Amino acid sequence: MYHSKGNYEAFARPQKPAGVDKKSAYLVGGGLASLAAAAFLIRDGQMAGERITILEASSMDGGALDGAGDEHTGWLIRGGREMESAFECLWDLYRSIPSLEIEGASVLDEFYWLNKADPNFSLQRTTENQGADPATGKTFTLDHRGRKDIVKLVLALPEKLYDKRIDEVMSHAFFASNFWLYWRTMFAFEQWHSALEMKLYVQRFIHQIAGLPDFSTLKFTKYNQYESLTLPLVTWLLAHGVTIQHNTKVMNVEFDIAPQCKCASRIEWIKDGVVGGVDITENDLVFVTNGSLVENADWGDHKTAAKFLPEVRDGGSWHLWRNIASQDTSFGRPDKFCTSPEQTQWESATVTTLDERIPVYMEKIAKRGMRTGCVVTGGIVTAKDSSWLMSWTVNRQPHFSDQPDNQTVVWVYGLFTDVPGDYVKKSMRDCSGEEITQEWLYHMGVPKDDIKMMAASGAITRPCMMPFITAFFMPRTKGDRPEVVPEHAVNFAFIGQFAETSRDCVFTTECSVRTAMEGVYQLLNVDRGVPEVFGSIYDVRELMKSTALLRDGKKLPIPSFAKRYVKRTIIGRMLEEYGVI
Ligand SMILES: Cc1cc2nc3c(=O)[nH]c(=O)nc-3n(C[C@H](O)[C@H](O)[C@H](O)COP(=O)(O)OP(=O)(O)OC[C@H]3O[C@@H](n4cnc5c(N)ncnc54)[C@H](O)[C@@H]3O)c2cc1C
Repeated sequence: MYHSKGNYEAFARPQKPAGVDKKSAYLVGGGLASLAAAAFLIRDGQMAGERITILEASSMDGGALDGAGDEHTGWLIRGGREMESAFECLWDLYRSIPSLEIEGASVLDEFYWLNKADPNFSLQRTTENQGADPATGKTFTLDHRGRKDIVKLVLALPEKLYDKRIDEVMSHAFFASNFWLYWRTMFAFEQWHSALEMKLYVQRFIHQIAGLPDFSTLKFTKYNQYESLTLPLVTWLLAHGVTIQHNTKVMNVEFDIAPQCKCASRIEWIKDGVVGGVDITENDLVFVTNGSLVENADWGDHKTAAKFLPEVRDGGSWHLWRNIASQDTSFGRPDKFCTSPEQTQWESATVTTLDERIPVYMEKIAKRGMRTGCVVTGGIVTAKDSSWLMSWTVNRQPHFSDQPDNQTVVWVYGLFTDVPGDYVKKSMRDCSGEEITQEWLYHMGVPKDDIKMMAASGAITRPCMMPFITAFFMPRTKGDRPEVVPEHAVNFAFIGQFAETSRDCVFTTECSVRTAMEGVYQLLNVDRGVPEVFGSIYDVRELMKSTALLRDGKKLPIPSFAKRYVKRTIIGRMLEEYGVI
């Protein structure tokens, strides 16, 4: 496998890999990583779909990429997907998947046309003092020390950041800045998370710096991601003959381990309560999604709090990864990620408003109408003085294709779920949907006298507690995550958010698709480049632009001895053009 960039490889079709007609594939987990791997096996590996089986523990497809519920009990989304044009592998996949919305178009066409016609940007990024605009504007308020921290982080050797927390490498000044406020709420980083992952993020998304205060560099799907991303992909796979075996908890994958050869030999599962499995030969490829960010996610309802379920349970993804990891040191260390639930949890809530009383307040902050079919808040709005550090967003409505006209679906989340709210005086994780709505209404500026009545009858809210949502952000070192294809592996790959891939970062749809593509291309010897991670960090124009932005436009002084040289060269012209001097 190799990485490539440019149109030559992007549009090339690989030849059929030798021996593929004799091979079959089993994919453990039915999230985006496995669905993408199945699609690459078919499209690029030219494997017959009938030879592919996906083993999924639940009765649903798509894993984290969900969207469920109804108009009576409330709509459900665990999250929304901030996406961008530089998801190289994801768009390489979705260019081939037919849209379910527009006849003759691909999912990529649909997304591209939508975001061209209706570009995303927010008109108010933060609130404070119950709905007031603190006018944080587009400034990052980083002082010299804070900017130096960022530069040092980018220049650091990855191995120097192994097992380090963000607050071990960044100063107090950095944490006091607007930059950190925007950053942590957009990506859900906490100061105790991995400094290495933070470095990878800054590098990977350096071209997003301009969009941090207003999300103008982000793009969103038409509906929730189950309907807009999971369903078209599953429809395509089923049409190609792929089997999705639901209600199948994979308990273990057994391996034959020899010094130069590691071979998956059996998959053990419990399907609908019955123990079963399948023997694996060298001609059977096994793809395992090891670990899941939505493991043990629990839904509450308007009257009931969601349960916080931090225990590793039999038949879950951590249990499976532990069983696998116990067989060879190159299969990673799951306990690094699944044993600190207090540091990896947060909670979201899906609010379905039922009449016009609540949307009036949302419109004041969004500065846009709710049900125009177009961008509404244009990304999250953060109540910056909220003790839960609460953010909320309204995507294009309807957010579900069969949502009635009078309903608006809102996604709310809190990063700190164990401290009392400012209005309800209870921790978020102990709150019912109704109480979370009260706290949110308070921070939107609804008069105190109206809050209880509006939360009781103006919305249905379903909270969702996710104990492992940021498990992949825990400080880590080499070997904690298995390589996509470990050394000497013959017939298996690890895919998803806990597989080691070069340069890219986690908590993205792109990461799941990238690891899937890398796994398929390696195991089948597909002779085409996997798209290189978007290289903005190596583009001097992006570096200049972000330098100017991180200085809030303050010009960089040039030492007098260098002035003449700079002025006479293309360097000076570019520094001027990108606002640095
Ligand atoms: C709240 C939230 C917000 C997000 N925001 C963004 C964003 O803004 N932008 C972005 O690009 N991405 C975002 N993501 C991330 C993205 O959605 C995920 O990274 C991606 O969907 C993960 O896919 P996956 O297949 O790797 O893993 P998962 O979706 O976790 O899939 C794992 C699957 O394995 C199954 N499973 C578990 N154990 C077993 C077992 N023992 N046997 C069989 N099956 C098993 C699970 O049921 C699940 O279906 C967000 C995710 C969430 C939850």
